[in-house]
Amino acid sequence: MNQRKRLTGRLATVALIFAFCASALGANFFVPQTPANVSTRKATLTADESAALGRISADSLRGHLSFIASDALEGRDTPSRGLDLAAEYIAAQFRRAGLEPVGDDNYFQAANWSRVERNLGSFKMELDAPPRALRVERSKVSLASSVSGFTVWSADGPLTLERAGVLAIDYKDASLTREQVEGKVVLTELPDLRRQERERLFESYQAQKKFLDRLSELKAALVVTVDRNNPKGVGAGVERLLDPENRQPSARARAMSVSIPVIAVHDTEFATEFDALKSLKPEASKATLTLHLDAPIEHPVSVRNVAGVLRGSDPLLKDTYVIVSAHYDHLGVRDGDGGDRVFNGANDDGSGTVSVVELAAALSTLKQRPKRSIVFMAFFGEEKGLLGSRYYGRHPLVPLARTVAQVNLEQVGRTDDSEGPQVGSAAVTGFDYSDVGAVLREAGELTGVKVYKHPTKSDAFFGRSDNQALADTGVPAHTLSVAFEYPDYHAVGDEWQKVDYNNMTKVLRMVGAGVLLIAGNPQEPKWNESNPKAARYAQAWKELHRQ
Ligand SMILES: [Zn+2]
Repeated sequence: MNQRKRLTGRLATVALIFAFCASALGANFFVPQTPANVSTRKATLTADESAALGRISADSLRGHLSFIASDALEGRDTPSRGLDLAAEYIAAQFRRAGLEPVGDDNYFQAANWSRVERNLGSFKMELDAPPRALRVERSKVSLASSVSGFTVWSADGPLTLERAGVLAIDYKDASLTREQVEGKVVLTELPDLRRQERERLFESYQAQKKFLDRLSELKAALVVTVDRNNPKGVGAGVERLLDPENRQPSARARAMSVSIPVIAVHDTEFATEFDALKSLKPEASKATLTLHLDAPIEHPVSVRNVAGVLRGSDPLLKDTYVIVSAHYDHLGVRDGDGGDRVFNGANDDGSGTVSVVELAAALSTLKQRPKRSIVFMAFFGEEKGLLGSRYYGRHPLVPLARTVAQVNLEQVGRTDDSEGPQVGSAAVTGFDYSDVGAVLREAGELTGVKVYKHPTKSDAFFGRSDNQALADTGVPAHTLSVAFEYPDYHAVGDEWQKVDYNNMTKVLRMVGAGVLLIAGNPQEPKWNESNPKAARYAQAWKELHRQ
């Protein structure tokens, strides 16, 4: 296998549109609405149920979140010590609530993966542009570029080039031919997406990806981008996670990621050389580049979902399940605004995480348990591309065919939505893809919360959070949110002090009511077959239940 193929096989997958949290990079597509498949059953709560939900308290939510989103947990990156501490805390709360451990290791479901570290160990880069030769120091390169937690390009290695021809071009030069590019190192100046306005980010990313994919098609060996803004590189960049079961990125992940290795050089002399080369006609350039980049280093790492069950009371239905979930990871510690480098992720998705914990505690006080069992679950790795929920979809802890619904919670703490305040309301993604949206709306009527379908975002965000993995298996699965976009989204300022705990209490009581309605109803939610967007999930449901 040649170097190029080995390299592209190892390229990091880009999580861009996968994460819910990628809304800044996601386009909002307008889609026609279809009528909801509204249930006609009259919904009520018993006094016991109302009392249990009444135990959900703003103080308790604030208490949990002030720890989960504290600087001590260092932004709960996947993997990290902060993430492990959060997992222990969640498990401790499940233990306190008396939930049944359902993981493969008590309350934990451990995925034994690898951390992949790009390797600058014996890095060597030399630009030979007669009469000058320039050696690029390790401290002056970046092997990856990330924005809002997502890798936009990278070079993972191994890659060895001996005096490969160099072609210096303007960004977006469309005049190139395969003859000019094949086997060459392309020197160019990509825009720094980290300096881009948020509104333009997705567009700029797509333009850059198109340009890089074109160079890949023309069989360039490597792209070297000149950065004049930052005097220092990020070196190996953020590590990535590797699931040994999925060494090859999926077709969708490949389609989203840049298909050619890119290295940034942050060096003024190199930039000067680039300017000089660019002024020459391509055929006049005698410049060559020599590169040695080692293969990345893999370190074993264990990352964990956390799960506990509140066992139901019906002799038959207690072996069926409703999942209430949230992701407990966030972006970790990285360069932010000013001195603060901790991305606390209080709203995203500390708010969902502590909601799961608080609801488990509240419902465990029920004197009469619901008919079905309720699984409380916290996922790792959402920010890295829905990793924990995807892992769960492949390794379910309770049978998928007996899992009747999933209600996933994302960004339920802040009410300062970019579209205006969202008080006493919550949106459901894929609202009318299944009956779950209508059940949650009924729960909203019982608890005084407006549960709605956002005209554009409900459908556009369906695939961006941890409901997607279960939906793919056929389980009616949705995400509920208070704010889709808000100030401090994926920024260091997403802190626990900015959450509206009274509103969060109200919304969580509604979620609890919805979960109880599903768990108490012998009739399970169904996908809405009259909605073409739900067709593939309805089909998956049929396949799941044929087993
Ligand atoms: Zn999130």
